[in-house]
Amino acid sequence: MNVGILGGGQLGRMLALAGYPLGIRFRFLEPSPGPPVTGLGDIVAERYDDVQAALRFAEDLDVVTYEFENVPVATAEALAGVVPVYPPPAALEMAQDRLAEKQGFRDLEIPTAAFRAVDTQADLAEAVEALGLPAVLKTRRLGYDGKGQFVLQAEADQEEAWSALGGRALLLEGWVPFRRELSILGVRSRSGEARFYPLVETHHGHGILERAFAPAPGISADVQTQAESYARRVMERLEYVGVLAVELFDTEQGLMANEMAPRVHNSGHWTQDCAPHCQFENHMRAVCGLPLGSTAVTAHAAMVNLLGQVPTNAEILALPGAHLHLYGKAPRPGRKLGHVNVGGEDPEAVRRTVERITALLHA
Ligand code: AMP
Repeated sequence: MNVGILGGGQLGRMLALAGYPLGIRFRFLEPSPGPPVTGLGDIVAERYDDVQAALRFAEDLDVVTYEFENVPVATAEALAGVVPVYPPPAALEMAQDRLAEKQGFRDLEIPTAAFRAVDTQADLAEAVEALGLPAVLKTRRLGYDGKGQFVLQAEADQEEAWSALGGRALLLEGWVPFRRELSILGVRSRSGEARFYPLVETHHGHGILERAFAPAPGISADVQTQAESYARRVMERLEYVGVLAVELFDTEQGLMANEMAPRVHNSGHWTQDCAPHCQFENHMRAVCGLPLGSTAVTAHAAMVNLLGQVPTNAEILALPGAHLHLYGKAPRPGRKLGHVNVGGEDPEAVRRTVERITALLHA
């Protein structure tokens, strides 16, 4: 099988690393020089919004997938006219616009924060009035890792929030007093079978995922089923194929959806070393029309992101149960350079190893 991946970052790299043992060959559309997929297949260095270049890229491919959600919808739709594109372009449309995403969740009766569209300063005043404070003002498009967000605590913050983000299409969300953040990852095959990994507990700093623990501690079977049902509704509505991640808030009133990613996701990296079949392999199986691999997890797992700097390999590899994954990227403050997965039978031992990795990162 020849698979095209739109994007050549670390997710594309890990998809390819998981696909090679299955006999899959890769071609990447990636405009930036020296990407993490270097050496893993042909790289076509053209812009994502150049539809003609994308169509040339797709010649002789059996299927096209993508590793980031800001792929231009027009490019994905043009490609879908000549080759199967999974996940379907409709998933990109929903995920690229926070308003469409929240409305989509609501249509599927999936609880979310209260929200209002904001296009003008007057809309902002009305939305603050309706939703109360605190509230979060977000750009509808191109926000990620906490970028394009402003938390309003007091009425007087409106001016500053507007000067930071005004002029773009925005969304005001009511504040969710969550207990913790969770993520559900599912995979759906071309024939409509869906499988889910256990809920993951995610910890963020400055909006960026820092650590993940799986299975999330203290999750009842009912809560797992609820999370799966939310992800399943999204998948069925979109006729989804591939891995989908839905980020959730765990609240006193139950689970609430925050946002979704129509791709493999950082909160699922632990599956590489601590699940029978990892998210990357399952994504490749799904988009290639192959049977799905098991998602039944028995171990305890954690993942620590290596942000901005990487300790020496030997320091990490000396820790019991630690698996190092580097992306081949140049260091830059806050940049995701790699991650460490830790697995074991004893969750306390896993946590202790995570603490040791964290200490190495801050040494
Ligand atoms: P997002 O880019 O929407 O994932 O937001 C980044 C982070 O901001 C989330 O992981 C939460 O920690 C926090 N956050 C986002 N929206 C809300 C909200 N409505 N209420 C409380 N915290 C939020």
